[in-house]
Amino acid sequence: MTAHRRVDVLVVGAGPAGLAAAARLAAAGAGRVEVLERDAQAGGVPRHCAHGGFGTWVRRLTGPQYARLLAEGAAHTGAVLRTGVTVLDWAGPRTLTTVGPQGPETIEAEAVVLATGSRERPRAARLVPGTRPAGVYTGGELQQAVHLFGQPIGTRAVVVGAQRVSYSAADTLRTAGVAVVALLTDQPRAQAPLLRAQSARLGHRVPLLTDTTVTELLGHGRLSGVRLRHRDGRTATLPCDTVVFTGDFVPENELARRAGITLDGSPHTSRPGVFAVGAVLHPGQRARAASWAGAEAGGAVLEWLAGEEWPTDGAA
Ligand SMILES: Cc1cc2nc3c(=O)[nH]c(=O)nc-3n(C[C@H](O)[C@H](O)[C@H](O)COP(=O)(O)OP(=O)(O)OC[C@H]3O[C@@H](n4cnc5c(N)ncnc54)[C@H](O)[C@@H]3O)c2cc1C
Repeated sequence: MTAHRRVDVLVVGAGPAGLAAAARLAAAGAGRVEVLERDAQAGGVPRHCAHGGFGTWVRRLTGPQYARLLAEGAAHTGAVLRTGVTVLDWAGPRTLTTVGPQGPETIEAEAVVLATGSRERPRAARLVPGTRPAGVYTGGELQQAVHLFGQPIGTRAVVVGAQRVSYSAADTLRTAGVAVVALLTDQPRAQAPLLRAQSARLGHRVPLLTDTTVTELLGHGRLSGVRLRHRDGRTATLPCDTVVFTGDFVPENELARRAGITLDGSPHTSRPGVFAVGAVLHPGQRARAASWAGAEAGGAVLEWLAGEEWPTDGAA
């Protein structure tokens, strides 16, 4: 049987954006603020990024440390974090259907905050031709396989992309005992900060192939190599058993799409009482920016709960 409940604010997604929004709302006395997270633990993407790069200059944190800090902060203010709960669809303008350890539920709220994040475009969506062998990851999948599940990865890897996340993926591969054969990008230079790119090239002797794209994956059962093409027409085959597609983020906006809700980059969506925040609005946004945006969106939700009118110049 499907249970039906009412809450004041329902936040979908317990990443930096959702947790910061929930913390602000609960601290301001917004009533029952409930955060639903489909993963087994709160924290979002940083939870499985065991590398540094989170926190601030004065307080440097790894992803899991940062995730824990935000989750504890939200819980401390009185927000209710419910993990293992997936939001499936809408049953009304601000009513969501969910499934979790307690079975199916419909939950109605005065305000809904979509903080569902973004993900890297996988190989299939990048339309890379070739076979469908094992050994093909996105950066996020790699981080989870290594840091959450301790799975063996391979021996020789190619990283597609030269953004910050690409260099983080290269670090993770090395941690897992995998040799990084090369990073490659279709751009003329790395998009990561110069120091980051140089330390990989000079410190770890990982070549960066610029103006280069993957044109085919090779191998049956297991990846045996990738075929590459340089912008000037030259081609080559790089033997490897692992390839990691990094960056090229797309929003996790399925819930908004299902309801025909338009997101225009501001926390106010086209549906009154439904807000969006974090990487679902700005795919690939840094974690700290997502949590700042979450706290700010919390302010917009408080205004709505206090009876302020929905802006008409938001998403149409
Ligand atoms: C591989 C990788 C490395 C990165 N490295 C860094 C870094 O070093 N430094 C940095 O600042 N940033 C980094 N980022 C970016 C940063 O982590 C994210 O952009 C940030 O986490 C965005 O926060 P968010 O809360 O918007 O989304 P997320 O952290 O993605 O959280 C969204 C949450 O929503 C949940 N969710 C989605 N749909 C549903 C649903 N239907 N029901 C229930 N729950 C749902 C997801 O499970 C997830 O936990 C990295 C990103 C990746 C992918």
